[in-house]
Amino acid sequence: MTSEIRKIMKNKKRIVVKIGSSSLQHPETGDLNYAKMDALVRELCNIKNMGKDVVLVTSGAIAVGKKAVNIASPLKDKEDHTIAVKQACAAIGQARLMMTYQKIFAEYNQVTAQILMTKNTVADSLNRYNATNTFSELFNMGVIPIVNENDTVATYEIEIGDNDTLSAIVASMVGADLLILLSDIDGLYTDDPRHNPNAQFIDTVETLDDAILHMGKGSTGSNVGTGGMETKLSAAGIATRSGIDMIIANSKDVKILHRLVDGKNLGTWFKANKDDSFDLPLYVAKIHH
Ligand code: GLU
Repeated sequence: MTSEIRKIMKNKKRIVVKIGSSSLQHPETGDLNYAKMDALVRELCNIKNMGKDVVLVTSGAIAVGKKAVNIASPLKDKEDHTIAVKQACAAIGQARLMMTYQKIFAEYNQVTAQILMTKNTVADSLNRYNATNTFSELFNMGVIPIVNENDTVATYEIEIGDNDTLSAIVASMVGADLLILLSDIDGLYTDDPRHNPNAQFIDTVETLDDAILHMGKGSTGSNVGTGGMETKLSAAGIATRSGIDMIIANSKDVKILHRLVDGKNLGTWFKANKDDSFDLPLYVAKIHH
C-alpha cells in the first residue's frame, strides 16, 4: 500500500487543498493563527515550486469578519446571527482574510487570485465556462487561486453551503487529480473517536459504499465552520466519482502536506473511482438546504 500511494502521489499535477475556519483560528480567542497560515502558505508555495498547479479553498470569511466587528462569541453557535449579519461579516472578513494570505504569499514571491463562487458558478453553463477559463488562465500564469464561497451574496437558493463540498466541486471543475481536506481530525474512523474509544481508524477507502457513508456523522469538533464528517464524505463522493483521489488529513501540523505529496501513508485516502455518468453541473444544481 505504502509504495502504491507513493507512486500515485508523485505523479499528481494539480492539487486542491481545503482548510477550514477552525484550523485557521486560535481556539482560545478565535483570532487568526498566523503561524499556521504562514506554514500553510510555505507548504503550498513549495508544492507549486515542484511544478504542480495548486488551488487553496479557504474558509474563515465569516469568522474573521465577526472578530473584526466584535460579535464573535466562541461559546455560542454561529446560527445566532441573522443571514444579513453573516453576509456583512463575510464581506468584511473575506477582504481581511485575503489581505493576510496575500501578504504571506508575497513573502514567497507567489501571486494569488481570489475566486468567490456560488452554486450558479457551476450549475449555469455560461458562468461555468467563464470560471473554467479563468482558472485555466490563472494556472497558465503560475498563479495560486484562493477560493471561497461568495457568502456575501449566497443565500440558500444559490449556496453550496460548506467548503468541503465546494472544494470537491472546484477540484472536479478544474480537472484536479488530488484533493486534500485539512481537518481537525486524522481522517475517517468507524465511529466518532471523541465519543467512542473503540473507534477504528480507516487509512484507505477503496469504494464509498453504504457502510462507509454511515460512518459520517453530522458533528464537528468545532463551533466554527460548517463541515463535519458528513460533508467530507459527500466531498469524497464528488471527488472520487470525478476520478480524483481525495485525502482527509489532520491540519494540526500543516507540514503534513509535503509528506502527503511525498507519498507518506497519512490520513484517509479515498481512491478515485471515475463514474462516467456523474454530471457535476446537474449534481450542483440539485444541492438544496
Ligand atoms: N464559506 C464560509 C466562510 O468562509 C465557511 C464555510 C465552511 O466552513 O464550510 O466563512
